[in-house]
Amino acid sequence: MKNDKNRTWAEIHLDRLERNVKKINALCLDNCNLMAVVKADAYGHGDMQLARKLASLGIRYFAVSNIDEAENVRSVCKECDILILGYTSPEYAKELIGNNIIQGILSYENALAFSEAAKGSALPLRCHIKLDTGMGRVGLKFKTPKECAEEIIKICKLPNLAIEGVYTHFSCADSDLASDIDYTLAQKDFIEKSYELASLVLKEKTPRHLHYLNSAGLMYLQNTKSTLARAGIILYGLMPNASLPLPVELEPVMELKTVISHIKQIDAGDYISYSRTFCAKRKMKIATMPIGYADGYPRALSSKAQVLINGKRCNIIGRICMDQMMCDITELENVNCGDTVTLFGIDGSQRISADELATLYDSIGYELVCGISKRVPRIFSE
Ligand SMILES: *Cc1c(COP(=O)(O)O)cnc(C)c1O
Repeated sequence: MKNDKNRTWAEIHLDRLERNVKKINALCLDNCNLMAVVKADAYGHGDMQLARKLASLGIRYFAVSNIDEAENVRSVCKECDILILGYTSPEYAKELIGNNIIQGILSYENALAFSEAAKGSALPLRCHIKLDTGMGRVGLKFKTPKECAEEIIKICKLPNLAIEGVYTHFSCADSDLASDIDYTLAQKDFIEKSYELASLVLKEKTPRHLHYLNSAGLMYLQNTKSTLARAGIILYGLMPNASLPLPVELEPVMELKTVISHIKQIDAGDYISYSRTFCAKRKMKIATMPIGYADGYPRALSSKAQVLINGKRCNIIGRICMDQMMCDITELENVNCGDTVTLFGIDGSQRISADELATLYDSIGYELVCGISKRVPRIFSE
């Protein structure tokens, strides 16, 4: 691509990913394996490259959100277990079996449809059953663990399916409010009881995996029975909750950079960008950069965020456009067109994180990195 490092790019630091994985692995108990969540193109970082790297680090479990993502991971990792967390049309049952992909089961009806669609295959469809213990999104939902266990048992008896796991998802494990912690513990308790009751009946046919840890759960919960930790955001060095410190220090894997495309002096009374939201009160020096909201840099950060140039913070001024934006470099010396600008990442002693930026516009680091658009080339470094 012609634009690599000459215009706007995202650096993906695989060495940082590796160090994050080591620290995260150290937090997993002996009975628990890391399941790398690489949905949404590995949160915008590049799923095939990251899955390849993670597999080389010994990771054997991956989670994604759909069959295309699963097939991407399969293409770089022939041996690993790949779980689709969310919905797949049962029409794809045989394709899932052919690629040895594990499907999340969202209800009894869903299990039945997969069971029928898998009829005639040499191998059963590998599945994990999803429980809705409080997220309110998908999964088996029951008032008591006893009823839930009965449904798990019913699904386990269906033909053409191999049920290998039971899982649930926390809705507020990233909170330190006492009521939220209680809620999370109730979710954990519900799935553990359901699993235990089902295992009394299923005996040796009990699904091997019971899992509920996401990044926040792994970071903040102790004494868990989860056999897999489905870690997403922390792999990428971002925080489940930007205002709650993590027990380990992680390094953001992605840095977003651009260059200065144009420099000019302006006078008091001059306007910058659409709708004249910025009017200079004095003489200023302004830099333009070839990045905008079409690259996934949020327009909501107009006049709110800063960028780094030569290790200094510079204010973004005026509206962020589709392909360009401006910042104030009045205080900087020796700046030239072509100089590197860091939107998030490290420059000298300064750093701006995706989490910090997301907080400025009421979002989360997850959304910011996932949203860095396709037109931004990802440049991988070891
Ligand atoms: C996205 C997702 C995860 C990973 O969440 P993080 O907060 O990024 O760790 C885990 N489990 C399920 C079901 C998910 O949808």
